[in-house]
Amino acid sequence: MTFKELGLAEPILQALETEGYTHPTPIQEQAIPILLTGKDLLGVAQTGTGKTAAFGIPILHHLYEGISLSQHKRKVKALVVTPTRELAIQIGESFTAYGRHTGLKNTVIFGGVKQGKQVEALRRGVDILVATPGRLLDLIGQGYISLKHVEYFVLDEADQMLDMGFINDIRKLLAKLPAKRQSLFFSATMPPSIVELSSKILGAYEQ
Ligand code: AMP
Repeated sequence: MTFKELGLAEPILQALETEGYTHPTPIQEQAIPILLTGKDLLGVAQTGTGKTAAFGIPILHHLYEGISLSQHKRKVKALVVTPTRELAIQIGESFTAYGRHTGLKNTVIFGGVKQGKQVEALRRGVDILVATPGRLLDLIGQGYISLKHVEYFVLDEADQMLDMGFINDIRKLLAKLPAKRQSLFFSATMPPSIVELSSKILGAYEQ
């Protein structure tokens, strides 16, 4: 299978060509068609399998298709929550690379640094927000971020998130997300605590 056969928008195909991606990885081949139909997804996948593109590409595709239909206003329409600053930066770079011809903007927010530059980027407007949980809740609390328009929610590295003690932050976030959304849940392992958490986040899902 090729990326073209997945029916992706032309600007995304172009970007993947620039990246030198010729064929989807197994997780991409499985996940992209499911996500393109709008279904929720539970993915058991480690870093290094190509999972960032597996969730990033369908999100970019949907948002890009949405832009051509309506007046494009930059609001946070996709939210990716990940446990560490390093992962957040990597995911942001992937969205920038795969989305370079779409006109969509992403930004990355994480703790441990001053918030000024992150707030500036948010003020300029973003379509896709990649965040670690603590700083995300902090900036929501200060009124810099609204989750009212989120259509796509990705919880990445869920098992690491629980190991790092983020469960309460995740619960708080879930309460702020619109009920009508597509949710994607990724974890490297599936202990009972993760299965329980996934059931709170996902509707009927594919695995
Ligand atoms: P990830 O699992 O998302 O951290 O991705 C691991 C690495 O695989 C990253 O360096 C990606 O740039 C690369 N990658 C992802 N998808 C593909 C693909 N279809 N073909 C070649 N490389 C890829």
